[in-house]
Amino acid sequence: STNKKAILELKGVGKYFGGLRAVDNINLSVKKGDLHCLIGPNGAGKSTIFKMIMGVYKPTSGSILFENNAITNKRTWDRVKLGLSIKMQIPGVYGDLTAYENMKIAAQNFYKRREMNNKIMELFDLLEITNLKSKIVNNLSHGQQQWLEIGMALACKPKMLLLDEPAAGLGPEETNYTSDLIRKLNDKGLTILFIDHDMDFVKNIAKSATVLHLGNKFAEGTVDEIASNQKVIDIYLGK
Ligand code: ADP
Ligand code: MG
Repeated sequence: STNKKAILELKGVGKYFGGLRAVDNINLSVKKGDLHCLIGPNGAGKSTIFKMIMGVYKPTSGSILFENNAITNKRTWDRVKLGLSIKMQIPGVYGDLTAYENMKIAAQNFYKRREMNNKIMELFDLLEITNLKSKIVNNLSHGQQQWLEIGMALACKPKMLLLDEPAAGLGPEETNYTSDLIRKLNDKGLTILFIDHDMDFVKNIAKSATVLHLGNKFAEGTVDEIASNQKVIDIYLGK
């Protein structure tokens, strides 16, 4: 609705890799409390946008605002401290350590020593993976590693969470679990922007979506509008 404030804004953001235009002049506004999805075929530029939001890539053009402050030139770590947290497409967990030790690596920067254990246990409880806390991460399933990584992102006290393909490679039950988790986090007030290319998964979770195609914004609207848009259906069928 119009009375909600924007938490994240991209203004004319573009990214070239040499001569390849990966992202072209994107405008995007995510409001506080939104559960918004970036959808689009492989190579559309979705992950590149996330990396620019986090400061992993510097935009070739345009600016990025978080809570009305320009963050375009800030370091990744400063963005995390401002309240932006991400689960990347490629897992970022420490395989030789336990799930608990992984959570501690994230949480120790944001919680005092005496409150940290409680917070970590609270997050394990929220994620319903308390039984995994002493397991070595390499021995966890792909899905369990994804949930742990979401937990690590949550341990950074985010105001806004970015999830890059949180259901990639998961089976149907694990996918349902991930959908429930995303909805639960949003219901608790967390603003979430996530990437996916599976329309069924998106329909099940998001309230609104932006479609990217060849680095451009192709369509935007409610998920129902997007899913019934013939042009969107066509790019998915490769027309
Ligand atoms: P998506 O996440 O939508 O699948 P990406 O953002 O990963 O797409 O990639 C968009 C385009 O940019 C693709 O053509 C990809 O090959 C290219 N690209 C992404 N990262 C790099 C990079 N570091 N160097 C060169 N090209 C890149
Ligand atoms: Mg990607």
